[in-house]
Amino acid sequence: MASILFSQHSSNPLEVGSSDTRNKLYLKHYQDARREQPASSDDPIDGYQMPEIEDYHNHLTSIIPDYTIPSRRAHADEDQGMDESDDELLEPMNEDEHGRSDEVEDVDESDEETTIMKKSVEDRQEIEQEIVELESAVPNLSKDYKLVDRLGTGTFSSVYKALDLGYHSKWDNSPWHGFHPPSSSAHYQSAPRPAGTKVFVAIKRIYVTSNPERIRNEIAILADCRGCRHVSQLITAFRHEDQVVAIMPYHRNDDFREFYRVLPMAGIKAYFRCMFRALHDIHARKIIHRDVKPANFLFDPRTGQGTLCDFGLACRMDTTPTQTLGACFHTSATTEHPHGRVLLRNDIKLDQTKKMQKEARLKSTMPSDKVGYPANETRPTSKANRAGTRGFRAPEVLLKCSEQTGAIDVWAAGTILLFFLTGKFPLFQCTDDNEALMEIATILGKKKMERTATLHSRTFATNVPSVTELGITWNSFVTKQNPDLYTSPKTDPTCYPYNTSHHSEHDNNVNADSLPPPPASSSSPSREPSSPVSVSSNAATRENAARHAHKRDIDMAFHLLQGLMEPEAHRRTTPKDALAHEFLLDIDEPADDEMFPHPFGQGVCKKHHFVDEVTEEPCVKVYEPMRPGQSVPRLGVKRLAHGQGIAIGRQPCEFHRDVTLYG
Ligand SMILES: [Zn+2]
Ligand SMILES: [Zn+2]
Repeated sequence: MASILFSQHSSNPLEVGSSDTRNKLYLKHYQDARREQPASSDDPIDGYQMPEIEDYHNHLTSIIPDYTIPSRRAHADEDQGMDESDDELLEPMNEDEHGRSDEVEDVDESDEETTIMKKSVEDRQEIEQEIVELESAVPNLSKDYKLVDRLGTGTFSSVYKALDLGYHSKWDNSPWHGFHPPSSSAHYQSAPRPAGTKVFVAIKRIYVTSNPERIRNEIAILADCRGCRHVSQLITAFRHEDQVVAIMPYHRNDDFREFYRVLPMAGIKAYFRCMFRALHDIHARKIIHRDVKPANFLFDPRTGQGTLCDFGLACRMDTTPTQTLGACFHTSATTEHPHGRVLLRNDIKLDQTKKMQKEARLKSTMPSDKVGYPANETRPTSKANRAGTRGFRAPEVLLKCSEQTGAIDVWAAGTILLFFLTGKFPLFQCTDDNEALMEIATILGKKKMERTATLHSRTFATNVPSVTELGITWNSFVTKQNPDLYTSPKTDPTCYPYNTSHHSEHDNNVNADSLPPPPASSSSPSREPSSPVSVSSNAATRENAARHAHKRDIDMAFHLLQGLMEPEAHRRTTPKDALAHEFLLDIDEPADDEMFPHPFGQGVCKKHHFVDEVTEEPCVKVYEPMRPGQSVPRLGVKRLAHGQGIAIGRQPCEFHRDVTLYG
């Protein structure tokens, strides 16, 4: 499969030639399905008419026959806007910052093409040089994409922003758009961009120094994640000589540090709903991200939409049990137990470890300058995957567990919730894995850490006085970091959901999402359906209600946090359960299961799906159109691109919607 994506030329391998009769029918099918969906765009086209943009429009007209130059928007404060941009030029900005206007109505989407202008002169020169260099290393790239900025740079890759020159005319984008219904939070992924709008992509240049196996792994995993909600979708990938680039949709986002202290509670909930939907969907495909952290979750605080990205460290779950000496006392992930389950007492090994634990405890009473280490290695450590970013590693990663599951991503997501609650990022200062274990142990206590270590056939020993037997609660840890936690915070009115007209009439400090407060008689923390309490003009009443709602939200967030930061992986809250948790459950949304995109070959129409054993291509059985004189329909095979043929909830996939044929 990877070989298909690694085509040698720069044209999109997903492009379906309209002359190809095999594809004509299902292309039509797609187009019909897409017509039913209302169009929307993240990137409406209008805005400042700068000479460069005008040049560019002329350029587009020359290469895209039916390209219409967008009409100039009546922009009364155009000059003021230009001044703002100029001011920003004087201040060097981080490369991830895209700059935010104070007045949300004035956020000009077409600025997306000129974000580089907001960067310092030095940065700009460096980025422009890199763009020239990339365009010469991959000459075909500039034919299809106009590189406009750099989005980020890392050890193994750099990511650039580019305009997709062929979006409206050249490619068939349906495989990566997917078919998320309008009621799904991921519908924006499905909605094709309206004709004539600028569509941006993120181009990931994977450095030639990267291990080829690693590159293949990342591309193959991205292909498997097609159709997942809130996950960066692979549009295409290609190679030119030793250069590999992957093309993905561009998602507008802000640096976490810019918004995590001011994001309204409803925005925090939106953040984690997107996050756990992404994790639910990738874990269902037996993929672990392994590097969940704010930098890898592109969140737009204006829309409340988030996208999990950078699968450079992602891996597949190892589902073959390793029953060797020193193996863990829990299983790997199963469909029924996504975070594994404890092995039944089989017992000699358990006794052995208990003995080891006892010895370790004795040892820890002795003075030592080496403290808080996993003692008594019982197996070679090379097998355990420790990839990830320090400060986000789950206890089982630090303890070198050999049967890691998606639970490690959930732990990392819990760490992000901690940043929101404490108002501190970064929070942990550890310099190595042992220190990281100690930091966790300070909160969770010695007893839990010992249990956790035993689960992974390890022992935990420490003689640090701050690590107590029972630890402290998350609540007391967080309130120590953030004494104002229960005071309704000042939230940013440009953030979701206050920037929508629906919320604009409310006081910025009132979390309208959570109004009204629960009746005093209710002991349940679950959200009450909106009762017709008149929105009182009495400010005091409203403030009181907001305070109640805020307190209830914080309490529920702690309850969720406890489950996410459960040190024993098999007991840790799963993404599915997190989405059903009171903190994240939205009674106005359809049940999450209804919007769940099944892995290929699962769901109601699974009997018509199979994977070609030789080519590993996903295939579906579909009835061919009847020919003249034919009386019985013939079942044929259609080969699909990754991302096609995904059943959502109880709905069949796009190929099997006709219940008279496939019901
Ligand atoms: Zn383990
Ligand atoms: Zn199907």
